[in-house]
Amino acid sequence: MARRMLIAGNWKMNGLRQSLGFFEEIRTLVEPGYAVDVLVAPPATLVQAAAQASNGIFIAGQDCHVAESGAHTGDISAAMLKDAGATHVIVGHSERRSDHGERSETVRQKAEAAQSAGLVPIICVGEQEEDRRAGRHTDVVGEQLDASNPGNGDFIIAYEPVWAIGTGLTASVRDIAAMHEFIRGRVAGGASRQILYGGSVKPDNAAEILDLDDVDGALVGGASLKASDFAAIISAAS
Ligand code: PEP
Repeated sequence: MARRMLIAGNWKMNGLRQSLGFFEEIRTLVEPGYAVDVLVAPPATLVQAAAQASNGIFIAGQDCHVAESGAHTGDISAAMLKDAGATHVIVGHSERRSDHGERSETVRQKAEAAQSAGLVPIICVGEQEEDRRAGRHTDVVGEQLDASNPGNGDFIIAYEPVWAIGTGLTASVRDIAAMHEFIRGRVAGGASRQILYGGSVKPDNAAEILDLDDVDGALVGGASLKASDFAAIISAAS
């Protein structure tokens, strides 16, 4: 089965109601009938309004709790995201792993909670700069991969080398190709599994990254905040 291409934007802690004009802008900037799936993960406050304004763009949460409901002040469950109109949720982003001490076991539980609620989890894995310098990047990513994914069902993997996120540094196409091939060989359902690359993807480097055989799309942070940049990346994937 041919794998679909997915261009996913992660707005992180950015965006107010006025940002929703983004969806209309994308509609005018991208040729109708583009052959890729497009997704935006706005902050939780905008999930419902974004789902209403999205013009066919999938909407994702940026995180969810492992539980369906309960005494967890400030948290959001996968069922709540689904109820607000989300179809996907990002779990295990490196900023969650570093800012909130999330471990792969918790990430797997979140991915399972997402699946139970009817959402597709986008599970992030990636090595630190010192792991790559020490040549242990595949070991680190392999361990994260084994421990973070539910094994069965629908899920997407995003390979995001931590040192390339928000830094303007991208992994070389050779390194991206090698890691994606490794992930495909290791993850359950590898042949049909969508594997995205993330880490300073921009309009000027998107085409060469998205052209790689084992890259099925991109998880885009900074460049997803500006409709013209995000539209250029969608066009590069089409
Ligand atoms: C991200 O937030 O997942 C990301 C890849 O960010 P950026 O594109 O800004 O590096």
